[in-house]
Amino acid sequence: MAAADLIPVNIVTGFLGSGKTTLLRRLLASPELANTAVLVNELGEVGLDHLLLRHVDETTVVLPSGCVCCALRDDLSAAVRDLYGKREQGTIPKFDRLAIETTGLADPAPIIFTLMADPVLRHHFRVGHVVTTVDAVNGATHLTQHPESVKQVAVADRVVLTKTDLTGREHAEALRAACRRINPAAPIFEAAVDPIGPEQLFIGDPADPSGTRQDAWRWLGVAPGTPPPETAAGQVSPHDRDVYAFSVTVDRALDWTAFGIWLTMLLNAHGDDILRVKGILHVVGVPTPVVVHGVQHLVHPPVHLDGWPTADRGTRLVFIVRKLPRQVIERSLAAFNRLATVGERVA
Ligand SMILES: [Zn+2]
Repeated sequence: MAAADLIPVNIVTGFLGSGKTTLLRRLLASPELANTAVLVNELGEVGLDHLLLRHVDETTVVLPSGCVCCALRDDLSAAVRDLYGKREQGTIPKFDRLAIETTGLADPAPIIFTLMADPVLRHHFRVGHVVTTVDAVNGATHLTQHPESVKQVAVADRVVLTKTDLTGREHAEALRAACRRINPAAPIFEAAVDPIGPEQLFIGDPADPSGTRQDAWRWLGVAPGTPPPETAAGQVSPHDRDVYAFSVTVDRALDWTAFGIWLTMLLNAHGDDILRVKGILHVVGVPTPVVVHGVQHLVHPPVHLDGWPTADRGTRLVFIVRKLPRQVIERSLAAFNRLATVGERVA
């Protein structure tokens, strides 16, 4: 089934007390999201009163593969299947989007895995933007003390800083810098001052036909170098220094099959430490760019874009990794390049 026919799922995550429910309530008030079904883990203190709200009890996680990021969440699978079943029976409105609010300590990776790997769900749903809230009052502390918080930022497509009106400007900017270092590709918004409607946060991911596909190009802008672990004084920590981003380029067209094998092997070996990979690929025989996008051991179905934005048609891959030297990936890619000599040079 084409991506356009699948129901997009937006995941709203963020540490305890970071304002997930407030953000979701604000978003759901927009007419564009009137037809959005909502799943929440906790019925929060703010009290969402959405027409299509459902509650999911977080239950035991099953680990079919033995790795945490690829755990199928039975609770989530059952709740989403139930929603879909009622939608098909007509007992609830025919929702055209699903939003999932996670618990504060949730790792978004198993949620993404469940939506993409569950044999039923993957035929009806696709993963849209992951939105992560970070509150300015406690966010810096969470990033230094809780790896869950760092991971929520690393996996985000959009970061929303909340409560910046309660702290000094300097504090808010330091937090923004910390988030940007963990995830340089995700746009960062401030809930107190920026427009944060559906258009900014939910609509227009690369698989969304109505989207501008700006996101793919934003990833191209990520600097190739490893950013030094610089954070504002006092923010330096074991956890937020572990995670960093870098990009690698390939100056010739790729053989799709060989690339697929390489990426699969790389993620098999290092998926625990590759929190995120996104690539814009020049593939042999394909005139337009192909976008690949993975979270840990999982790769989303590739998306074809309409065209290249500039004359530069080189392949670029951006990685967000945890404790993995970039040389490991560069060496692997260099070996792959020597083997895959079918492509003609493009730059
Ligand atoms: Zn895994």
